[in-house]
Amino acid sequence: MTRKPDYPFERLDYGETLEVAPGIHWIRMELPFALNHINLWLLTDGDGWTVIDTGYNTPETLAYWEAIFDRLLDGRPIRRIIVSHFHPDHASLAGWFAERWEAPIWMTYSEWMQAQLNRFGGPTADIDARMAFYAENGMEKEGTDGYRQTRPDFSKIILPLPVSFRRMMDGEIFPIDGHSWQVITGAGHSPEHAALWCSERNILISGDQVLPRISTNVSLQCNEPDGDPLRLYLESLKKFRDVAPDALVLPSHDRPFYGLHDRLDGLAEHHEERLEATHDACSAPLTARELIPHLFRRELDQHQLGFAIGEALAHANYLVTDGLLAKQRDPDGMIRYRQV
Ligand SMILES: [Zn+2]
Repeated sequence: MTRKPDYPFERLDYGETLEVAPGIHWIRMELPFALNHINLWLLTDGDGWTVIDTGYNTPETLAYWEAIFDRLLDGRPIRRIIVSHFHPDHASLAGWFAERWEAPIWMTYSEWMQAQLNRFGGPTADIDARMAFYAENGMEKEGTDGYRQTRPDFSKIILPLPVSFRRMMDGEIFPIDGHSWQVITGAGHSPEHAALWCSERNILISGDQVLPRISTNVSLQCNEPDGDPLRLYLESLKKFRDVAPDALVLPSHDRPFYGLHDRLDGLAEHHEERLEATHDACSAPLTARELIPHLFRRELDQHQLGFAIGEALAHANYLVTDGLLAKQRDPDGMIRYRQV
């Protein structure tokens, strides 16, 4: 039985800050989605600051940031912008920070490239490609139309990025405020997500890779229809076994928590159960859309339905790799999965 993680801090209001460890400030900002908030981090760093993730590009977030700059920075500049991955709630204001503070952006190579691509309508921002992919995986026209209307245009949300960046590498160790932080990359949620681990301080900034209660979205994407992102995600999770079990975990959503290893166990069990449910459901050929009621019990809005199809496909493709399901395109143009 998985032990519940412990939450040492109460939830913050949007735009508020809290020093969760000496020199490490938690900031909570609003998101215009069902997942309604994101956590960002400001770390004192010598005579300046390092910011980790930037928030979603809305007038409210920008106003909160300006207020935080006035209130918290104590006249010291932001000298570095670290971005865990390219998703717009994390990266969309990176260019704004870089310009305002004349500071470099630190990202892994794939995340930087993906952020740049999406600004120009690249594969995962191409709404037509995405809708065709959802349609052949069973999403009804009503669903694709609804998704089109509700999905923001990410090419406009992500602000222009500078031409250059500082690449972060897996395993790389660099100092923040005199302490050594190690990059732990992961895949499955995004191509080369960076978490940061400081053994000296016993703190893990886990990004979206490990969240305390909701499970990280692991979706098959339209640009890689035969991919196996769930396997990549589960493999990445194993790397966090090297982090101390009593580390304070600072995730991008929900609250800081203790109980990392219990959470890793819980996530592995969760996906194991969903894999079993996927396999059982496919005793008759099913589209990913038809799999959703077998995997998700709650009502989903249009935006969540897109995530849910991606999740169902991630589980189905995992079982295809293992030789337990076969994937076929039927004469009606639909892709269905069935037990082998
Ligand atoms: Zn994300």
